[in-house]
Amino acid sequence: MTTLANPPAADGEEVADLCRRHLSKGRATLGELFGGHLETDSRGAWVTSATGRRFLNCGGYGVLLMGARHPAVVRRVEAQLHRHPVATRLFLEPQGAHAAEALVRTAPAGLERVHFACSGAEAVEAAIKIARTRGKDQLIAAHEGYHGKTMGALSLTGKEVFQKPFRPLLPGVHHTPYGDVEALEELLKTMPGRACLILEPVQGEAGVVLPPPGYLRAAQELCRAYDALFVLDEIQTGLGRLGSWWGADVEGLEPDVLLSGKGLGGGVLPVSAVLATPRAFAAFDMDPYLHTSTFSGTPLAMAAVQGALAAIEEDDLVTRARDLGAGLLPELNRIARAHFGTLVREVRGQGLLIGVEFTEPGPAGDLLIELVHQGVVANHSLNSHLVLRFTPPAILTPAETQHLCQAFDSACRVQAARYNPTREGGTAHAQR
Ligand code: PLP
Repeated sequence: MTTLANPPAADGEEVADLCRRHLSKGRATLGELFGGHLETDSRGAWVTSATGRRFLNCGGYGVLLMGARHPAVVRRVEAQLHRHPVATRLFLEPQGAHAAEALVRTAPAGLERVHFACSGAEAVEAAIKIARTRGKDQLIAAHEGYHGKTMGALSLTGKEVFQKPFRPLLPGVHHTPYGDVEALEELLKTMPGRACLILEPVQGEAGVVLPPPGYLRAAQELCRAYDALFVLDEIQTGLGRLGSWWGADVEGLEPDVLLSGKGLGGGVLPVSAVLATPRAFAAFDMDPYLHTSTFSGTPLAMAAVQGALAAIEEDDLVTRARDLGAGLLPELNRIARAHFGTLVREVRGQGLLIGVEFTEPGPAGDLLIELVHQGVVANHSLNSHLVLRFTPPAILTPAETQHLCQAFDSACRVQAARYNPTREGGTAHAQR
């Protein structure tokens, strides 16, 4: 048994067994599927197993833009931990105030108010409540969009497989094809003054789906025309991931509400945020008890936010994400096509959010597992089985970038042998 005097054993089988008995049988099986490695340490771009195996972490669901344990984050969190980790929530507290100010400084114009939460889904819930305070009882999201799995957020997440077991969900939710301006207008027309539109600047979990140029700006204009609240979910795309501070910056968007999360806690603590215009935030402004949660904006988390923003700024991670992505994307494209030929539908991305889409389910999952054998962690895409997703940190050195490309090349070579790539067309299938 594990006691304080007898710390947890670094034994994969024992942990899998504990996981099976106390956490989730499915989670244990998943861990075994990926090699049964016991992750115990992380630093920079690397995660290390109990046996000392190192993996380049290009996954982490987009959390680790600054890598693991960035000194600027750890230093601040450590200092705050030893000073004042949790607030009274009655007195004024400086860390939250400074974190909000620092975050607003990076954000599109007009977003002056901040509500901090812990998870991305919680930020989405808060946005839904803000919409209700503005009289917007109709929610519009995009097909295949991902906004989290709490009940409100799940109502927006456009994926049947996640929604079905939990119905009934929120009423008044509509889904529109991502990228289709006409379809959006048709919908908005039917509910003037009552809608709240929530979109991702690039759909991450849908498999890195980029909107046609001008779509987001047109969506914003339609929201203005039909008096709808415009919410940008930048939980995955924000903070430099796309090679710009925010996805909003690419088309100069000024949403009413913008959501942040993932890397906001510097890869160290769970933090998310809702940024809003004073008009959208008016009800939350008036009554600080209208929407609360015990651990929202703890000084410890707020120290992490300040560290994360400092790391992004001081290390110029936005530019590095843009430049690294510009080099990586064509290379991953070349490698994937060299091995899988016509089984590759498209390799696309923006900054360091890169997706490799196949024409059939199979290669994405097989490559995800094979990449682990080759020393790289990547992501699957929650809303698409066809897309293997890379979200590397923006701190990769040239040698680490080379490791990623070599591992991808080896993984593709091994897995492509199991398929029957048809470079000249025809039917492709796995050799199982
Ligand atoms: N919104 C977007 C765009 C996301 O990508 C995610 C998570 O992947 C979420 C919301 C939900 O965040 P969380 O998993 O922290 O609840």
